[in-house]
Amino acid sequence: MSIEKALYERAESACELCKASEPLFIYDIPPVSVPNTDTCILVCKTCRDQINGDDAMDTHHWRCLNDSMWSPVIAVQVMAWRMLNRIRDASWPQGLLDMLYLDDAALIWAKATGEGDEEGTALKHLDCNGAQLEPGDTVTLTKDLNVKGTSFTAKRGTSVRGISLVTDNAEHIEGKINGQQIVILTKFVKKSK
Ligand SMILES: [Zn+2]
Repeated sequence: MSIEKALYERAESACELCKASEPLFIYDIPPVSVPNTDTCILVCKTCRDQINGDDAMDTHHWRCLNDSMWSPVIAVQVMAWRMLNRIRDASWPQGLLDMLYLDDAALIWAKATGEGDEEGTALKHLDCNGAQLEPGDTVTLTKDLNVKGTSFTAKRGTSVRGISLVTDNAEHIEGKINGQQIVILTKFVKKSK
């Protein structure tokens, strides 16, 4: 049986994280040397794009892990652990993480890509008023910013939706302005309510 067929059967043709249906993709959970059904999960586009970082994390979407983290499939448990760690600043994910039990081998696998490193979470991204920024927040620019490599200036007061945090630099966030993904300094933004 092909990996794909086996996965569809296991997943009952639904995203193994959020239960959404087609289109579904096979996600090889890194680090993978030889993909097989034990190292892959079937995910929908929404899950895949956020896992890969193509889309900003939508914390609300990941409420689905409340159910899927109890999957008997180790690969699903590992991805649930990684995604919960990415959003654990939102408090409810930490509660789920406390309940999610991975055996030793699975935990080593889950941690293999650096997700959930303590250092990463020690960094706090603060806006110009010291308010803590979270992935998915909307912020407002507090000064005109020249967008590197273009003649475009992002005006003060511009709203940037669905920001993501640069994990290794507390002074940098990323967001889309004028359709372009750019890095913005946290001291030049204000969190919108
Ligand atoms: Zn999904």
